[in-house]
Amino acid sequence: MYGELDSEVLADESISMLKRQVHDFAEKEMRPASVALDRMDPREVIEDGSPYFQVFGKMKAMGLHKMYTPSDYGGLGFSAKQVHAVIEELGWGSMGLTAGLGVDAILPSIAAVFNDMTAGALDECVDLITRPWMDDDKGELRGCVPFTEPEHGSDIVMSPHLPAERLDEFGLRNPVKLEKDGNEWVVNGMKAAWPTAAPVATHCFASLNMQPHRNVADQAFAFIRLDQDGVSRGAPLDKLGMRDVPQGELAFDDVRVAKEYVIVVPGMWSAAAAPMLALMGTGTGVVSVGLARAAFEEAMRYCKERIQGGKPIIEHDTVLMRLAAMFQSVETARAYSRAVLDYAFDKMFEEREFDFPAMNCHACKVYCTQQAYEVASEAMRLHGAYGLTKDALVEKLFRDARMGLSTEGCNDVESLISGHGISEHYSLE
Ligand SMILES: Cc1cc2nc3c(=O)[nH]c(=O)nc-3n(C[C@H](O)[C@H](O)[C@H](O)COP(=O)(O)OP(=O)(O)OC[C@H]3O[C@@H](n4cnc5c(N)ncnc54)[C@H](O)[C@@H]3O)c2cc1C
Repeated sequence: MYGELDSEVLADESISMLKRQVHDFAEKEMRPASVALDRMDPREVIEDGSPYFQVFGKMKAMGLHKMYTPSDYGGLGFSAKQVHAVIEELGWGSMGLTAGLGVDAILPSIAAVFNDMTAGALDECVDLITRPWMDDDKGELRGCVPFTEPEHGSDIVMSPHLPAERLDEFGLRNPVKLEKDGNEWVVNGMKAAWPTAAPVATHCFASLNMQPHRNVADQAFAFIRLDQDGVSRGAPLDKLGMRDVPQGELAFDDVRVAKEYVIVVPGMWSAAAAPMLALMGTGTGVVSVGLARAAFEEAMRYCKERIQGGKPIIEHDTVLMRLAAMFQSVETARAYSRAVLDYAFDKMFEEREFDFPAMNCHACKVYCTQQAYEVASEAMRLHGAYGLTKDALVEKLFRDARMGLSTEGCNDVESLISGHGISEHYSLE
């Protein structure tokens, strides 16, 4: 285990215990399942009895899906530092399986937090979503978060951050629409092929275009049960990496949604989506720290074993320098992501302030995913030709790390969003 530098984390025994417990699970259960799932056909990954459901069920039995939900709603009420420790260890075990848990954990927590923000206006939604989620210790409920659409990927990620007049540039092509019908709502249209865990989800928390349908930001947020007539799913994607978590299309044909499930309407959407995307991006940054550390440790292990030039390659100066550069990446990514998660977590869950400058959240996503990609690439190179084979874990870690550059928002777009924030909020005084 790495040498902890943060004195607050060092002094908090609850964090070291949690870290040990989650690391044990990541090592013994997650990583082997992740490697097995990585080699399976995507259709087998979603079959009953696949290791995906076994690991997911165990994460639920450990209560990890409650980590973002406030304790007065039955959640774990974790501090940001506890959450950071858990996500890093899970990310060490598997980026894909952690992403599957991450999107699931959003559903109960978002209903709870929005309920507090609206002074209890969403009590019925909490009863329908948060409470059953808190009671599920088997993985029978599974969430996903479809935002993006076939014709609007980056557009939807960028839209909460841009002034209304600029949104016209994006156009509005074939959005998934939410329309009122009597006392209910009706959903029609198709989401992108990318929502994490959509092929196995029982519910989604979706972003849906609502009248007046002027632009991509005229969205509402609604929970949708996915066992209803009119919901269909595409085949799970056959992807480069994160093959241990299925992704695939969700299509809606006159799907009915009760009014209690519609919790944010246009006008409020950007204000709600911006901090959600900021926190999700920060979370991806933390998962990437775990992946980067896993790749670094694999490289260290190999460099101590592999003998060339008559000695273990770790004894060659240039190899030591390469390991030192990887170590710097892991340590700086951990320190930055911990500070950013602290900040964003406090804003959202303690102060319940949604309108906070999020330039660091998007920068954290970009920085940590980029470091993970570079560390995994260097770890592969340190393995020589062996690193290019399926027998080497670093080969999988490299493919998984590449996915991180495009998840949530592509890193160029995340940098743009961060840049807008810097130009607005960075004080030169
Ligand atoms: C592992 C993974 C998990 C994901 N999980 C989810 C999920 O749970 N839910 C969900 O809804 N979606 C999810 N996605 C989808 C993801 O959010 C999108 O892939 C991402 O936002 C980019 O959209 P796109 O793929 O349509 O690319 P496009 O938007 O088509 O972008 C293509 C290229 O153009 C660049 N670009 C686009 N717009 C601009 C601009 N305005 N200025 C400059 N450059 C621009 C981009 O940087 C990119 O390089 C996931 C994706 C991945 C890879």
